[in-house]
Amino acid sequence: MAGIVVVFDFDSTIIECDSDNWVLDEFGLTEKFYELLPNTLWNPLMDKMMYELHSQGKTIEDIVQVLNRTPIHPRIVLAIEAAHSFGCELKIVSDANTFFIETILKHHGVWNCFSEITANPSYGLVMERIQKSVDAASEKKYIYVGDGNGDFCPSLKLKDKDFLMPRRNFPLFDLVSKNSNHIKPEVHAWRNGEELYDVMLHIMNKAIGEGKNSVSSCTSTRSIDCKLGSISIDVHNNPLPSALPVPP
Ligand SMILES: [Mg+2]
Repeated sequence: MAGIVVVFDFDSTIIECDSDNWVLDEFGLTEKFYELLPNTLWNPLMDKMMYELHSQGKTIEDIVQVLNRTPIHPRIVLAIEAAHSFGCELKIVSDANTFFIETILKHHGVWNCFSEITANPSYGLVMERIQKSVDAASEKKYIYVGDGNGDFCPSLKLKDKDFLMPRRNFPLFDLVSKNSNHIKPEVHAWRNGEELYDVMLHIMNKAIGEGKNSVSSCTSTRSIDCKLGSISIDVHNNPLPSALPVPP
């Protein structure tokens, strides 16, 4: 085992959008949803929208087809596959619908890469539980990848040995930037699927090898001008995958 646990958020992290909004938009229910939202909680209202779809004669297969079209960057799928190949343990902590998550991940062939999906959670408490259950067996390093306000609490649970990957120009990035004194892990921001892939493979190499199996010959890291001094971004002049050994 690689000794690494990678915890992903789902909406706007693994996929490019919010999965609820994607489904509502595709079925033309967005306006109705936001009309009702002021008087109903989000999740019960989503259940109501699913019932609405059913009453319109839409089937599960129709919803699956819409979910299969959810925008996802191909490099993110590759990053998931690479992390799994390296022997990392992969988990998702998200407030997205588990059926949506499962359908989308199955469509891209990476459902089996994940050992645990936790939906509608208190992110921070889930992160603590994961750390306790995993740390009981061994001292592992965590990579947390997210974008939203809900990802900030678990980010605070990470330790010096861990890595945080906030999506640049999204709420988590701003929160981390403003609260850098409270953030212990190494922070590596990313903008899109290309950068997520490059940064994640660089981190995995670093965490696994601490020098051996290094890709330093084709990778440089430089500080960039941003609000958070400790944020760095990896600059890759050469593609990383060819330099990374994949276990048999
Ligand atoms: Mg998100």
